[in-house]
Amino acid sequence: MSEVILHVLGTAQDAGLPHPNCYCKNCTEAISNPQIRRFAASLAIVLPEEKVWHLIDATPDLKVQMINVQMKFNLKGQLMESIFLTHAHLGHYPGLLFLGREAIGSSSVPVMAGTKMKRMLEEQAPWSQLTKLNNIEIREINDGQAITVSPHVTIIPVDVPHRNEFSETFAYWIEGSKKKVLYIPDIDRWEQWDQDIYKACEEADICLLDGTFYSAEDLEKIGRDYREIPHPLMTETMDRLQDLVEQTEIYFIHLNHSNPAIDSDKGIRSLIETKGFHIVEEGMNFLLS
Ligand SMILES: [Zn+2]
Ligand SMILES: [Zn+2]
Ligand SMILES: [Zn+2]
Repeated sequence: MSEVILHVLGTAQDAGLPHPNCYCKNCTEAISNPQIRRFAASLAIVLPEEKVWHLIDATPDLKVQMINVQMKFNLKGQLMESIFLTHAHLGHYPGLLFLGREAIGSSSVPVMAGTKMKRMLEEQAPWSQLTKLNNIEIREINDGQAITVSPHVTIIPVDVPHRNEFSETFAYWIEGSKKKVLYIPDIDRWEQWDQDIYKACEEADICLLDGTFYSAEDLEKIGRDYREIPHPLMTETMDRLQDLVEQTEIYFIHLNHSNPAIDSDKGIRSLIETKGFHIVEEGMNFLLS
């Protein structure tokens, strides 16, 4: 049976840590200590025996994330077999440009995207040049439609409510023969979703969930209004899912620079871990098959 590994390439909210033009405690520490920097959230699905990998989201940090997965799994010079996109926000798709003429100049890399996202990429510059030059080939995917990327792994996009200015937003089920992962990096509110997050987590073995903000206070700290950038708060998510921590491994991902869960004093982090939840870290591997 060939192995399927879900490898974490990035854990931060779109703009990463340090956040541009920010000198909050977390950012200041990350500026002086590159060890604690965080890339934008992204995952690789690696099939080490077949020597292939697939990418979920093309972040602005793609350049280094690609080196990381290639070095780690001995895939030097091996481009991804396909890219699955969640949506058209800063942390999730601009890395596609590295496939274009000014950089790799790839040929026909399949990019899986929703209807709106596909149209945007094909019609709007600079993205449209990638299809014109055949660097990428966009394939439309739809809510609930399973895509088999190998005999041992299936990916299923799921529509989630999010500020959909230019595209729809997908979460993904990533299913191996041993484990099922639910990946939701961005969602506005659990109660706006047409699915029940409790039931979805109950079905999963591992969940990687939107951990942008810990509480309303970390937004106030950076002077941003909670209504302008809606995300479920980690405190609220933990209350909802507390009964599931024995049966499902629940991780938080897409962490904002202001989030006290990534503070070096680790007080809030210990509290989260005491409740049985986890913070995802770059380089983590989950064996799915
Ligand atoms: Zn995001
Ligand atoms: Zn900051
Ligand atoms: Zn977003």
